[in-house]
Amino acid sequence: MSNAIKISKTPALNIHTEEKTVHPFHYSSEFFSDEKPLNSWVNRIEYFRDAATSLHSYGPKYQNNAFVYEKEIEDFQISYNGEDSKTVLTELSHILEGGIRSQSSQAVFNMVPQPLMDTQAAAAAMQLYNVNAIMDTYGGKALLYEQQVARLLGKWVGWSKANGLACNGGKITLLYAIKSAIKRMAPDSDKLGIPKDIVILTSEGAHYSIEHCCEFLGLGSNQCIRIPVDASKGVSHFNLQDTIRKQHNAGKRIAAILCCGGTTLDFVCDDTQSIVDSVHSVKKDLNLEYTPYLHFDSVIGWLWFSFLSDSTRLETLPLPIASKIQKALDKFKGLQRFDSFGVDFHKNGLCPYSSSFFIAKDLPITRHNNGASKSYGEVRAFDFTFENSRPASGIASAWVSLKRLGIKGLQEYLISLLEASDQFKFILSSHANVTLLNNDSLGWEVIFSLEPCPSVSQLYSKDVISEDFYRYVTELTQNGQPIPSISIIKQFGELYKSEGETGYILYPMHPNLKIKDIEKIVGSILNSYEKHQQLLSNKSRQISDKPVALPIR
Ligand SMILES: *Cc1c(COP(=O)(O)O)cnc(C)c1O
Repeated sequence: MSNAIKISKTPALNIHTEEKTVHPFHYSSEFFSDEKPLNSWVNRIEYFRDAATSLHSYGPKYQNNAFVYEKEIEDFQISYNGEDSKTVLTELSHILEGGIRSQSSQAVFNMVPQPLMDTQAAAAAMQLYNVNAIMDTYGGKALLYEQQVARLLGKWVGWSKANGLACNGGKITLLYAIKSAIKRMAPDSDKLGIPKDIVILTSEGAHYSIEHCCEFLGLGSNQCIRIPVDASKGVSHFNLQDTIRKQHNAGKRIAAILCCGGTTLDFVCDDTQSIVDSVHSVKKDLNLEYTPYLHFDSVIGWLWFSFLSDSTRLETLPLPIASKIQKALDKFKGLQRFDSFGVDFHKNGLCPYSSSFFIAKDLPITRHNNGASKSYGEVRAFDFTFENSRPASGIASAWVSLKRLGIKGLQEYLISLLEASDQFKFILSSHANVTLLNNDSLGWEVIFSLEPCPSVSQLYSKDVISEDFYRYVTELTQNGQPIPSISIIKQFGELYKSEGETGYILYPMHPNLKIKDIEKIVGSILNSYEKHQQLLSNKSRQISDKPVALPIR
């Protein structure tokens, strides 16, 4: 009760005086203004940073103690009076626990690089100035900068008038693609709903979220038909035409083909020219009255487009790297005839989350129906976007990334990733118990298997040992230990071979990995493996029956 009396004497939200109240929250000092130095803002980030540092995690993950959700959720409370900045932001730092620590060169679990400081600053600035990219009269030039990014990337693939939508992840780019395809096939579907005879096609190697997108759009996940793939080269002419024929004969119309433009596993990439040719020839054969919408899921592969805009650097590169890049570029030849593609700046554009772009050849966001340009005051993103209010941080960081890196910087990042990957492969393959599984990949992911020692092989099957090593590494990294956070893939290669093999994956994402770092990472993986083998061999570690939570791909 005494608390309540204090509050009535000292209003909690004291806007009028500078006086320090007993209440830790003080309106007059809590806001950013243009005139004030940024110290107080930076101080707050420092509270968080200092607290994060004192979590004493030096590995690829922030240490995490096991917890159960329901208890933590129920235990959450706020005080009546609020708490001071330092206390709250210090407490907030625990939000990192159990998450990836992308500053670590051992963070090789997935495509989660540490962003450039400039792109982080750009994103933070959008938060600081609270920019809403809903429409230009609210968000100012955020919408213009968004379209500058989209137009530029569109030009790289040969589209003169591309527009785009910044969005919250590669999955949303896929959602936009499917939505655009449905709209094109059934223009009145926005009022009448989706016709029952519509399907979309995508390859077996394409992202797992596509069915979910179909579900969200009301199309239904069963309407997503997966085309078999024979190789990481992508879907074959035969399999594509065969699938189209089968669907057509079943009375279905193919609204879209979502093609792979490089994936996290083996860089599955469809040959765009072959896709275009296949679609046109089967269209003629079957007398189709429509052309399926073609989307390229290049949320990873877009980085290669930087060589489409200027390929001179290619000639100066060592042959293995140049030919890898060229092989990917050869697959983009039909892109001009596609309708849209996706870009994830947070995957390989050195931007913070989320900074994805859906880029479309013909999505007239900035033009009127007669082709004339819109002026300031006429662009309303919400006519096109899933969201209404929209953050501008992805737009700003993507824009800054492109400006800051330039064509050369983007190309160098790609080259450095491919070089690091080759180094990893070279060093790994010098060890007798390592087998590389993705030597032919055009991407930089490294997939390999490790041969168990004979004494352990007698105890368990190879698959069980492989899975347990991943479990072991996960336990250690979860514990904050500085060993590489390798990932696992079961049945790698099963899409194109009769049987797959369990492999470990690592994604070298750091732009600046030196040979020494790479040797250290490999050494650390092999040491951990040896320890694991010893533990199994002398029976100080039992392999649990509990299935290991396999990572998403
Ligand atoms: C990562 C990824 C996605 C999904 O992107 P998010 O940014 O995680 O939403 C889609 N397609 C491919 C090929 C990807 O690698």
